[in-house]
Amino acid sequence: MSGLDAFCQQKLDALRAKAQFRELKTPHASRISFCNNDYLGLSADARVIAAGRDALEKYGAGARASRLVEGSSEAYAALEAALAKAKGAEAALVFGSGYLANIGVVPALVGRGDLILADRLVHACMLDGARLSGADVMRFSHNSMEHLHTLLRDERPNYARCLILTETIFSMDGDRAPIETICGFANAHHAWVLSDDAHGLYQPNPESRIPNHVQLGTLSKALGSYGGYVAGSRVLIDYLVNTARSLIFSTGLPPAVGASAHAALEIAHAEPWRAEKALSNAQLFCSLMGLKAAESQIVPVILEENEKALAAAQTLADAGFSVAAIRPPTVPANTARLRFAFTAEHTTEDVQRLAGAIHSR
Ligand SMILES: *Cc1c(COP(=O)(O)O)cnc(C)c1O
Repeated sequence: MSGLDAFCQQKLDALRAKAQFRELKTPHASRISFCNNDYLGLSADARVIAAGRDALEKYGAGARASRLVEGSSEAYAALEAALAKAKGAEAALVFGSGYLANIGVVPALVGRGDLILADRLVHACMLDGARLSGADVMRFSHNSMEHLHTLLRDERPNYARCLILTETIFSMDGDRAPIETICGFANAHHAWVLSDDAHGLYQPNPESRIPNHVQLGTLSKALGSYGGYVAGSRVLIDYLVNTARSLIFSTGLPPAVGASAHAALEIAHAEPWRAEKALSNAQLFCSLMGLKAAESQIVPVILEENEKALAAAQTLADAGFSVAAIRPPTVPANTARLRFAFTAEHTTEDVQRLAGAIHSR
């Protein structure tokens, strides 16, 4: 075996020993999926597909260059105007993905000599952005406003700029951050807030023109397509066009992909029952399972050990349900879990059968 392969083999063996080995699997069409983020059921919607197909014929398969080089497709302008409106912001900017948006925006806002305060549970791509920025990173206990306040009071004065990172809906826990409280603290301590709404359902959002608040999200979950965005003030967006390296040095999102996302956004607003159904499915599941009320369409059931989570997912797979066993490093050590994602496409009966399968195992 070559030195390279021996190195890889040794690392994989170590992951297997910890029940952390992962592999790419083809989805089982015959199972009901509770492990995808197509929360509004729009990825296969005929209108979303038609919008993408029309744009594919009009603009071609790819963006052909960075948006700053080739010229920015008119498809982006329409999508960005719709996103800005949806987020209650002055302007928006589309990136190639939510990951690219995070690793572009964070280093554009802070760097060496600055401070990042990140919720303990923020997504890996916010932390990757933080690392790229070169700023000092401190973590506050999940959703602990006391801890955040202490860090702002004691640490913030030692730095030039300060950026707080959080998520509106936490991806693996399904709970929500108190965004207005965080923004209030931030403004009192001359800090800024970046909130990642990757798991948001694009419900009407009136209270979002908070100063010093940057909103970020993805087009790849509730909108069923692909891409990322940032929304905020016009001057912020103009600044990011000039400084976000993942926008400047990466080819633009294929315009047809953006057109599908735009159609999906319009449907999300015109058909509010979709978000309501995803949420009521989660509520039903929690009440059938005796869990505390769901805060979103994402419901975790924490089993602690990796092996337990894997075995539970396998049992449910055998019963006809695809559920994700989420293990470290995606979640903290000893918090392996089943992550149930409810969507507008699940019927009441699907949810009842899922709960029945869990009770009988
Ligand atoms: C999924 C996710 C992302 C990444 O978005 P992509 O568009 O899939 O790259 C970013 N942040 C959070 C919180 C996520 O859950």
